[in-house]
Amino acid sequence: MSLPYEAPVSQSLFDRASAVTPGGVNSPVRAFRAVGGTPRFMVSGTGPYLTDADGREYVDLVCSWGPMILGHSHPEVIAAVQEAVARGTSFGTPGAGEVELAEEIVARIEPVEQVRLVSSGTEATMSAIRLARGFTGRPKVIKFAGCYHGHVDALLAAAGSGVATFGLPDTPGVTGAQAGDTIVLPYNDLEAVRAAFAAHQGEIACVITEASPGNMGVVPPLPGFNQGLKDLCSADGALYISDEVMTGFRVSKAGWYGIDGVRPDLMTFGKVMGGGFPAAAFGGRADVMAHLAPAGPVYQAGTLSGNPIATAAGVAQLRLLDDAAYEKVDAVSAELRGLVTAALAKEGVAHRLQAAGNMFSVFFTDAEVTNYDAAKAQESFRFTAFFHSMLSQGVYLPPSAFESWFVSTAHDTAAVERIAAALPAAARAAAGATA
Ligand code: PLP
Repeated sequence: MSLPYEAPVSQSLFDRASAVTPGGVNSPVRAFRAVGGTPRFMVSGTGPYLTDADGREYVDLVCSWGPMILGHSHPEVIAAVQEAVARGTSFGTPGAGEVELAEEIVARIEPVEQVRLVSSGTEATMSAIRLARGFTGRPKVIKFAGCYHGHVDALLAAAGSGVATFGLPDTPGVTGAQAGDTIVLPYNDLEAVRAAFAAHQGEIACVITEASPGNMGVVPPLPGFNQGLKDLCSADGALYISDEVMTGFRVSKAGWYGIDGVRPDLMTFGKVMGGGFPAAAFGGRADVMAHLAPAGPVYQAGTLSGNPIATAAGVAQLRLLDDAAYEKVDAVSAELRGLVTAALAKEGVAHRLQAAGNMFSVFFTDAEVTNYDAAKAQESFRFTAFFHSMLSQGVYLPPSAFESWFVSTAHDTAAVERIAAALPAAARAAAGATA
């Protein structure tokens, strides 16, 4: 495919990066492998915009894969970070910022009675699963195809996100022993979960699910699915773990829990709660969390857990996220969904826009997408053409047909107008694309 324009400075940085870093990136989803071309190296972000190393500005619909819900360089978050950094960067002792961030989380999300801070979503899900196994004394974990919970060995089987984007088989480097206790089931299929519980009575430590998946594109739970999971777990004595790393503090003040009200035993968080810094968490029932060291026997730790800069950024961001902020993000999301649908419909492109609160993505198919197989069945070559047209017109989309798009409170009329102006040509490109 001939690409619409060049990015010489990004290209030269990518060449240097490729010499010293596998694939030239530090996280696979940042590469443009699925869509082709050179990843853009960004040098700054302000509000809804990113500027790349070639000096080109983009409306950002990735928002750092979710965290930047207030847009880039929000003045109050930056001020909190500057104030914290002036006092030192890491102490290796408890600090007030950790207490404040934990209190913010507990105050917003009623099922979270206690919370432990970590540095990445991967650590959060890994630790939550260890805790579930330690608490129940059981080995097995149920996960769903197309859900991504970070690159935890036991959870990479049929994972979404980059694993879906690159069509990777279950990854080398994960042994049969590490994955042997993972049961992978089709998403939104309660019967399959029921059958797994029947086949493995008393062996299942937990079911882990994205509260509303965004890593195979946006595929919300069908009505009753999450409640059904919770009920099956409760009946068997297993724990229901809701992974809200992506949805937490993004789709409402209380994340997806604030929308569907299904009460998890444990939850995981990341992204928005760190304000753009590495901060994540897992938490839930106090009697379960009491099993965690040093209160209990299940070990979990981290040199930089609760880092003072990260917690300052997270607290500042969460405190700015009031009802009005969510109304704004929801409204921008709804407006963009309408614009994208109108542009694709005008060109007769088969598509389906799916949303979970303010998260959304486009599938290039007519059919409803309720699971990973359906997500994979879309005509993703149309996304490639759509993506490059948008990029060349200054709109930065996730470089994959299997990722959610994200907006922020900073996406104002001017940003939406730029996106609207880019959509007709992108829709035409999608219409004309061939496999
Ligand atoms: N869980 C979900 C639902 C995610 O979307 C992600 C990352 O995209 C993770 C866990 C892993 O988080 P991290 O990339 O911070 O390790």
